[in-house]
Amino acid sequence: MEKQGILIVVSGFSGAGKGTIMKELLKRYPDQYALSVSATTRGPRPGEVDGTDYFFRTREQFEEMIAQDELIEYAQYVNNYYGTPKSYVQEQLSKGKDVILEIEIQGALKVKEKFPDTMLLFVSTPSAQILKERLVGRGTEDEATIHARLARAVQESEGIENYDYFVINDELSECVENVHALIRCEHNRVSRNINFINHIREDLSGFSKGE
Ligand code: 5GP
Repeated sequence: MEKQGILIVVSGFSGAGKGTIMKELLKRYPDQYALSVSATTRGPRPGEVDGTDYFFRTREQFEEMIAQDELIEYAQYVNNYYGTPKSYVQEQLSKGKDVILEIEIQGALKVKEKFPDTMLLFVSTPSAQILKERLVGRGTEDEATIHARLARAVQESEGIENYDYFVINDELSECVENVHALIRCEHNRVSRNINFINHIREDLSGFSKGE
């Protein structure tokens, strides 16, 4: 029976370590997962590579992608656009890979609306204080941006009930295995196996007729 991958959206406060968790998940299970690469108008951080971390685009280029309907969803986050290109996601899902979108909450809700069987996962730090320390310690944002991102975290925390799963990123390795286990479980939901179940039902009804 042909296998279709699951679409998984991972959100979490800026600085919660989503990116690190996802990279590690892909390193450990490269055959199972594909990570979607988003387009953004924000500038690259040191070490970020165009086409790997993000597709870095100008505002005009981004608006052109919107106009051409090339994005599954897009949102504004602290003065920049972020969006998910359609083509890669569709291609990987049809290859049977579980595709992970690491996106903020507005985008997450739009994806869920379009594709209701999307799995939504929220990643948190063990405490608010640790979140602030990680964001400051990363040293990639100026003070005003850190402040805006923390304010955004307050807003995002209000929306966590919309998610299916909640994980705390305390010890990285443990958190990665936890996320992997949740996704494995998700594959076994009755609603995701309904074609197979109907197939078995049909075969069984053949037996009861004495076939
Ligand atoms: P950062 O600038 O820290 O890389 O990302 C800022 C926020 O934008 C994060 O919460 C990240 O998950 C989110 N984000 C990244 N890509 C996308 C996307 O394609 N769509 C949406 N809606 N949010 C995104």
